[in-house]
Amino acid sequence: MPMQNPGIKKLVLLGAGHAHVHVLSRLAQNRPADLDVTVVTPYPFQTYSGMTPGLVAGRYETAECQIPLEPLVKAAGAKWVQARCTGLDANEQLVRLAAAGGAKQVPAELPYHLLSIDTGAVIDRQRLEAEMPGAAARALIVRPIEAFAALWPQVLGLAEKNPVSVAIIGAGAAGLELLFAAEQRLRQAGHASARFTLITGGGEVATNYPKGVQARVRRLLKRRNITVLRETCVGVSSDALLLGSGATLACNVPILAIGTHAPPWLQGSGLALSAAGHVLVNAFQQSTSHANVFAAGDVATRADSEHPKSGVYAVRAGPPLARNLLAAHETQALKAHHPPKHTLNLLSCGAGHAIASYGPLHLEGAWAWRWKDRIDRAFVAKYALPAA
Ligand SMILES: Cc1cc2nc3c(=O)[nH]c(=O)nc-3n(C[C@H](O)[C@H](O)[C@H](O)COP(=O)(O)OP(=O)(O)OC[C@H]3O[C@@H](n4cnc5c(N)ncnc54)[C@H](O)[C@@H]3O)c2cc1C
Repeated sequence: MPMQNPGIKKLVLLGAGHAHVHVLSRLAQNRPADLDVTVVTPYPFQTYSGMTPGLVAGRYETAECQIPLEPLVKAAGAKWVQARCTGLDANEQLVRLAAAGGAKQVPAELPYHLLSIDTGAVIDRQRLEAEMPGAAARALIVRPIEAFAALWPQVLGLAEKNPVSVAIIGAGAAGLELLFAAEQRLRQAGHASARFTLITGGGEVATNYPKGVQARVRRLLKRRNITVLRETCVGVSSDALLLGSGATLACNVPILAIGTHAPPWLQGSGLALSAAGHVLVNAFQQSTSHANVFAAGDVATRADSEHPKSGVYAVRAGPPLARNLLAAHETQALKAHHPPKHTLNLLSCGAGHAIASYGPLHLEGAWAWRWKDRIDRAFVAKYALPAA
């Protein structure tokens, strides 16, 4: 689709996700003098989700999992607005904002010529409450990841005073990694009576993985004495989970890692959206309805060939997104981004052990954890500039 908006002066980057940290580092190398760049994101750092299980396991300090944004934004010659996007009018070319982190003097609306969205996926609290009453108020929810990471120490504190019964709701990669990490941390802290349950939602563990990986996960769960319930969770009370079968499970630490939702603020934006509500983009990561809007990472869905929503794909989206945003500014031809069919998946199973898979191939061991550790640390180090 050719660009229809020459004379682009204002670029707004919504969110500082995996692809946008790369866009910022690319702008830091060479930002066109007439391009005014504003980053809208709620936290002064980007928490690298891939390292969060290691944080829970006690292997990383919080700062090791974070990319400080101020130095990167400054190096890119951009402005940072500490806010959340709460609405978007793609026809009027403006985003609506709400201040975050106590920021003052945040504009209610921000106009743009060119917009790029990398705000990730969310857990929509209203939707969650309708499907699982009590969960929004009582469960420890993995998104936003910053809130989860800030609350996790309270679980450690609780375990010092009372026996804990931890239930992870959601048996995808995030749920499993957090479960193995929590189990390892609490057992290593001497809480031998802590109980751990995985609520799969009715299906198999690690559903999106090959059968061989599922078998490896099941073996590890058994070895670690973790109960697996192939049940749905339909409600959360202060001391129990209500299950779809009508049974209750005593639980004082419910952790919610169910599949994520598209941000509700995209509804009514005028942008073409997928059936699930994500920004529908073409091979240039450009909105199929608005040529001056781009989107990458978990907030976007490719209209031509959908790929899984994961950090690995979000990272790979960064360089082509940066190229195309600059090409759009210069009204030059855009280049298609071809995500790989298979990616290397490294599923951590507590610090020190991981399952590696690539397509149908899978192996596990301490070496896989060390591999993941090196990749994750390298990603953060690449973008973590020292404070000026
Ligand atoms: C515990 C856990 C472990 C994971 N481990 C892995 C792994 O090992 N490998 C893997 O491939 N995937 C992993 N994932 C999945 C991975 O986290 C996501 O796929 C990835 O974060 C998507 O990247 P993103 O750039 O789309 O969004 P994000 O990384 O979520 O970044 C979104 C950015 O937008 C900001 N933002 C959010 N809302 C707004 C708003 N309204 N306005 C402005 N800014 C906003 C956020 O603060 C953040 O800066 C894991 C997920 C979890 C929860």
